[in-house]
Amino acid sequence: MYEVYIDHDSCIGCGECKEACPEEVLDLTDYYPIVVDEEGCAGCGNCVEVCRQDAIFVNKVKEPLEAIV
Ligand code: SF4
Ligand code: SF4
Repeated sequence: MYEVYIDHDSCIGCGECKEACPEEVLDLTDYYPIVVDEEGCAGCGNCVEVCRQDAIFVNKVKEPLEAIV
């Protein structure tokens, strides 16, 4: 599971990250991108690579433990 974070202070709202995302995790508001599919990120890193502002970050997070029955 991956967590996507956008630094709104650095982002210039170019939309490159949204275009580069194969999973349609991101959408673009008037000013900056937002995460519309929290669980859809595949961790490919495309969005990070295309961002010229270094404004987007993708971190691997631990999967929630499944309940043991
Ligand atoms: S590529 Fe970077 S600067 Fe452009 S909209 Fe995405 S986060 Fe913002
Ligand atoms: S890491 Fe890949 S799948 Fe995840 S938001 Fe960025 S481009 Fe989309």
